[in-house]
Amino acid sequence: MDSHAAAGDPSGVASAGTSTRDDSVRVTCPHCATANRVLRARLAEGVRCGQCKQPLLPGEPFELTAGTFDRHIAATDLPLVVDFWAPWCGPCRMMAPAYEQAAARLAPGVRLAKLNSDDEQEIAARFGIRGIPTLIAFRNGREIARQSGAMDLPHLLDWIRSKV
Ligand code: ZN
Repeated sequence: MDSHAAAGDPSGVASAGTSTRDDSVRVTCPHCATANRVLRARLAEGVRCGQCKQPLLPGEPFELTAGTFDRHIAATDLPLVVDFWAPWCGPCRMMAPAYEQAAARLAPGVRLAKLNSDDEQEIAARFGIRGIPTLIAFRNGREIARQSGAMDLPHLLDWIRSKV
């Protein structure tokens, strides 16, 4: 995979600039998990992945798996919030619409993702997830905050804004 391939593309595709490193952030693609480098000033412009051409910051929660989780945690400069959930969990399903709205409100500065803790039990165990839903906020590859229990939209926005 070569995220440099799209350098110079004027259509809003992420490029791997060399002279603007200080003004750019790494964004891992929610669709193909390729690490892109994007100018901060262009984050709000609907920038697309250099590899798969899909929106890098779609403003909606995206699904993480064991295959993509570590790449997203390690190689993303924007704060990332992960909702550890499961399909059988009533409070998780109740929170889902508010979580989607929060993703739209907080884009493009904060990314919201989901991890199915039934499908990816190893990751849930690694983070000591005991109850769901549990939200964990990550920044620069590290956990910076976590919160268990369903929240409505105002509380989600308050919690995320105060932590990241
Ligand atoms: Zn992609």
